[in-house]
Amino acid sequence: KTAVVTGGASGIGAATARRLTAEGARVAICDLDMERALQVASEVGGEAFQMDVTDGGSVRDAVSAAEEALGGATVLVNNAGTDEFGFFTYTTPEQWQRVIAINLVGVLNCTHAALPAMQQAGYGRILSISSEAGRVGSKGSAVYSAAKGGIVAFMKAIARENARYGITANSIAPGPIETPLLMGAKEFGEIGEKVIETMKSATQLGRLGQPEEVAAAAAFLVSDDATYITGETLGVSGGL
Ligand code: NAD
Repeated sequence: KTAVVTGGASGIGAATARRLTAEGARVAICDLDMERALQVASEVGGEAFQMDVTDGGSVRDAVSAAEEALGGATVLVNNAGTDEFGFFTYTTPEQWQRVIAINLVGVLNCTHAALPAMQQAGYGRILSISSEAGRVGSKGSAVYSAAKGGIVAFMKAIARENARYGITANSIAPGPIETPLLMGAKEFGEIGEKVIETMKSATQLGRLGQPEEVAAAAAFLVSDDATYITGETLGVSGGL
């Protein structure tokens, strides 16, 4: 299989690229950060492609290049995402636009670009990395929570529309995972530190998750062991 993994240059995306490659997939590591994407590609044996998920043209170009190099992609992992921590009252419309563009519109752009090849193949696996924030809301991440909740609903609708083509669409809702994104929350000062500590103590397992633990669930949901699972959201959050 050929898999497109967005945001594949870091954290959960890089771990997923590594896991899928190990299981025999040809993996297109698509990221804004080409330098890190090339580094991860050389480590895991995939191929790197420059992609800005917020830009439909950039997404189409990268998906076409990946399809030309690796064959039609029948797996899409919508993983690219980011957050800007802060209580909603103090955020600006410009921040909302950025957070929604990457976390929600990015998923729309990539799914739109990837669906035709899957429909033609009569087979596909679309997996989007949402967040527990999208199911229960997260203090200091209101707009991010809204975007991630949108992903869950979008995947359910895509599952309904594409079941007839043999395509499944699911989401994973990670809890606090030790990646540059989460640890970068500290740059936003006290609120960022608090978000990490609160989330950690809210998990039943009492610890942060590792990117590989999300990658394992991702590999399952895009595999042929998950043939009868669609429209679902799987929490990978230590019981959060
Ligand atoms: P990360 O910051 O380590 O990696 C994100 C990657 O996305 C980076 O390589 C970055 O360059 C890339 N990216 C950012 N904007 C992009 C764009 N416009 N186009 C293409 N690539 C872009 O983050 P992570 O923690 O591995 O997060 C991966 C996903 O998991 C995100 O969707 C995030 O919201 C979600 N998530 C993370 C956590 C967590 O605690 N780390 C929890 C819940 C959900």
